[in-house]
Amino acid sequence: MKQNDVIVIGSGISGLLSALALTREGKKVVILEKDSHIGGVCRSYDVNGYRVDTGPHAITRLENGPLKELMDKYFKITPQFIPFGKYHVRIGGEVKPFPWSINAWLTFGLIPMTDRLLLMRALFNALYLANAGKDYSNITLSEVLPDKISMTTRRFLDWLCYFMVGTSIEQAPISRFVDNKTHHSRSIPYVGKIYDLFMKEGATDQGYPKGGLQSIVNSILASFPKDHVEIKTNERVLKMDCSERVEGVITSEDSYDCDAVVYSGFSSNLPDLIEGLPAAYTQNLATIRRVRSLTIWLGLTKKIFTNYGSEMWVDADPYAWIVPTTNYDPTLAPRGNQLVGFGFTLPGEYDSSTIKKKAFQTIVDNIPDIEKHIDMIHYQELIPEKASWGINCGFGDVRTPIKNLYCVGTDTTKRSAGVNRAAYSVLNLLDVIRSDGNL
Ligand SMILES: Cc1cc2nc3c(=O)[nH]c(=O)nc-3n(C[C@H](O)[C@H](O)[C@H](O)COP(=O)(O)OP(=O)(O)OC[C@H]3O[C@@H](n4cnc5c(N)ncnc54)[C@H](O)[C@@H]3O)c2cc1C
Repeated sequence: MKQNDVIVIGSGISGLLSALALTREGKKVVILEKDSHIGGVCRSYDVNGYRVDTGPHAITRLENGPLKELMDKYFKITPQFIPFGKYHVRIGGEVKPFPWSINAWLTFGLIPMTDRLLLMRALFNALYLANAGKDYSNITLSEVLPDKISMTTRRFLDWLCYFMVGTSIEQAPISRFVDNKTHHSRSIPYVGKIYDLFMKEGATDQGYPKGGLQSIVNSILASFPKDHVEIKTNERVLKMDCSERVEGVITSEDSYDCDAVVYSGFSSNLPDLIEGLPAAYTQNLATIRRVRSLTIWLGLTKKIFTNYGSEMWVDADPYAWIVPTTNYDPTLAPRGNQLVGFGFTLPGEYDSSTIKKKAFQTIVDNIPDIEKHIDMIHYQELIPEKASWGINCGFGDVRTPIKNLYCVGTDTTKRSAGVNRAAYSVLNLLDVIRSDGNL
């Protein structure tokens, strides 16, 4: 038994950011990780001379988002980010930049003109009603779509829902798209959104971390104050010792006393770790729906993707997002070769080998020449978000019914997505711990 200030369960980005913030605020922290590696689904590793990430990644909101806030405050070494470039849309073999502004939308030839006009009308109507206070949290995008839009347009919107919200157009609430509270002119949200629609050319504060995702993890590890953190891998937490408050944790290897626990695994797994949680709490956790993805990494003997930026494949089945990471950092592949991540969304139920074959086939169908240039192929089945934003789907919370037990991760806050959602959860954690008088 050892007395520690805080035990952090899990060494993904949310666990690591929590541990960094807490140690830099003077706490002694032990991180317990069940796997043999650190970083969860935010790391890189080597496959036959290529450095692959855990899925294709764009790190967003680098100018004023929550990750930036944590980096400014707690990182001693910050990763270098390379501008992410444009998002391109591929439909019917044609590739065009994503239409961020109204001007670009009006000339975006991959979608029929009548659909573009009908959608603009629906969008302005939704923005106007949202500004007037209409609650869009239980209305799906498909419910407000004009009846007559083409299948191509519907698939385009469905693609956006899967990659932004983690679920289909039939499940995605409109509030996710019209109610984001991130614009700088918060006092005039409607005018701010209209300004964005007419004037902006897309987000410019997105980047790819030089050296791969691992460089974010490495920066965190290098920023820990000496002697304040201990990281133990291959140590799964099996039970938490709780009465009204958390007293410690029991792992596959040992047991630990502590003043507080920060848990960054799946919130929906908490009932397996703690006995006697309130029924209403566990019932909500049971409604959380995880997002699932497949990534196919291809090492290519030739540079096939020459556009600077990524591609959204709307015709692909399953839907795909393509990021040629060596266009940002050529050192990720053997000299002269290209490394490309093809991220696919996955339905709830699927057979792994069938979906892999189908996904690979959609790559070949879109780029017939590609097969003869493949030097390396690597598959990953991962969970990008621990909670999707679908109607009737639950979310966890940083606070729990147990005193001094807190949760972080992408199923504990609804704001933003991916790494920035994880970072928001850590900012929430710090607020909550502070308000409990524990910091
Ligand atoms: C294919 C893919 C593409 C993505 N694209 C983007 C993108 O473009 N932009 C973006 O911002 N984000 C993206 N993401 C999302 C982002 O990577 C994740 O949301 C984020 O890394 C999740 O971090 P986390 O710490 O919350 O969870 P995780 O990384 O899942 O970490 C949880 C950790 O807890 C450990 N753990 C769980 N239970 C226990 C236990 N009982 N005992 C000990 N350890 C335990 C796990 O082993 C794991 O290491 C993507 C993710 C994927 C997979």
